[in-house]
Amino acid sequence: MEKTIAAISTGMVPSGISIVRMSGPEAFDIADQVYHKKNMQPCDTGKKPLFHKMKSHTIHYGFISDGKNDIDEVLVSVMKAPHTFTGEDTIEINCHGGMLVAKKVMEILLKKGAKAAEPGEFTKRAFLNGRMDLSRAEAVIDVIDAKNEFALKASLSQLKGSVSEKVSKLRDEILDEMSFIEAALDDPEHYDLGGFGEELQEKIKPVQAEIKEMIRRADYGSVMAEGVKTVIAGKPNAGKSSLLNILAGYEKAIVTDVAGTTRDVLEVPVMLKNISLILMDTAGIRDTEDTVEKIGVDRAKEALDEADLILYVVDSTVGVDKEDQKVIRSLPESAKVIFVLNKTDLASGKDVNVDLKEYNGREENNVVCFSAKTREGLTELEDTITSLYNAEELTYNDQVVITNARQKALLFETEEALSMVITGIEDGMSEEFLVVDLMNAYTALGKIIGEEVGDDVVSRVFEKFCMGK
Ligand code: GDP
Repeated sequence: MEKTIAAISTGMVPSGISIVRMSGPEAFDIADQVYHKKNMQPCDTGKKPLFHKMKSHTIHYGFISDGKNDIDEVLVSVMKAPHTFTGEDTIEINCHGGMLVAKKVMEILLKKGAKAAEPGEFTKRAFLNGRMDLSRAEAVIDVIDAKNEFALKASLSQLKGSVSEKVSKLRDEILDEMSFIEAALDDPEHYDLGGFGEELQEKIKPVQAEIKEMIRRADYGSVMAEGVKTVIAGKPNAGKSSLLNILAGYEKAIVTDVAGTTRDVLEVPVMLKNISLILMDTAGIRDTEDTVEKIGVDRAKEALDEADLILYVVDSTVGVDKEDQKVIRSLPESAKVIFVLNKTDLASGKDVNVDLKEYNGREENNVVCFSAKTREGLTELEDTITSLYNAEELTYNDQVVITNARQKALLFETEEALSMVITGIEDGMSEEFLVVDLMNAYTALGKIIGEEVGDDVVSRVFEKFCMGK
């Protein structure tokens, strides 16, 4: 029999109320031992069964006592299996929000036989009792952890089952094909596999395309949910630290007129309208003999390689020189780039010819004239940044957007297996082999929703949860 678990489910800070939650087969018996109604005495606790007789999903006023003295005045919610979050009998005690009170209530539940829940154990039980699949259980943690509107929207949609539905639909399509092949191999007299390869290819290609699209959206989804890694790059003294300070809204980086003074990579989280940016100021990239500056330059290059967005700052009084050109040519293709022509209060940035297409063949050429001194161009810069991301979000509205790394890795696995099916067909492989790859795709998709995953994966998923959830 599963143990009954208990935990303080609200944060450990002084607050109006705290909730102590208990779930498991003995939840009602234990609650009987510690609860009494207003007209009863502390010593009356446990004398008669109360909670088994109560209607499910009701709330009861009373007291928690240790058998001698009352510990707190409470409201207790009673929820009977199987219609509860965990699928088990559940008691939630709303006590006063002092940390000591919640701890005392928790202690007495433990004394009466409950076990302290591990992080995520309530949700793990919900999963193991079939109340939700793994993608929805993961959505629970994502809702709690959501750092911005996008992350919340994506995880809520996943919690409602959008990922499960989509994945199940694609799995069914793969299953149909596998079953047909299996049936045909078993009963060649009644099923004809002649010309089946082409038919299969036609059926599998759209599934593969959908998976590819989900991967693409997942890339965007994790950037939006985690924050856009935005690297401010450019030559020393171009005005990178000044730009960071303006975007961050406070003095975070040291601004000096001595070139080469930013040696480390500074990271500042910033919300720009509905988009989270993780701003990174880097050492100006230039060839240098100074050992310390060199380390800074190397770190700047590493940061550039991982960037989602690069704000390349150019001092417009100097223009784009050979050193700039060299760096611009080597900017990673995976990043979006905005050119910031700074110090336009001293010179007109418009005179400086900057054309990204010319340097590295990029499609877009986002150039913003800016002055860190007068802040002219700030709105345009902010609008350019947000438009780069919002335009994409619009096309993703109401679409399934995966933000979870485990699920994304499984999408890759699925896509790989489906590619094998398609090349297998082209190479004239026999159906027995095609079934193996179809099965791999089917299994990988299944793991997203928690089918066919081992205990180790389940444990790893729930370890990341907070206490009491
Ligand atoms: P970084 O080395 O690229 O981080 O450059 P800083 O932000 O430290 O700026 C270098 C110098 O240029 C400082 O003296 C700044 O005050 C100055 N500066 C930065 N932006 C502007 C600007 O838009 N106009 C003017 N006139 N000076 C600026």
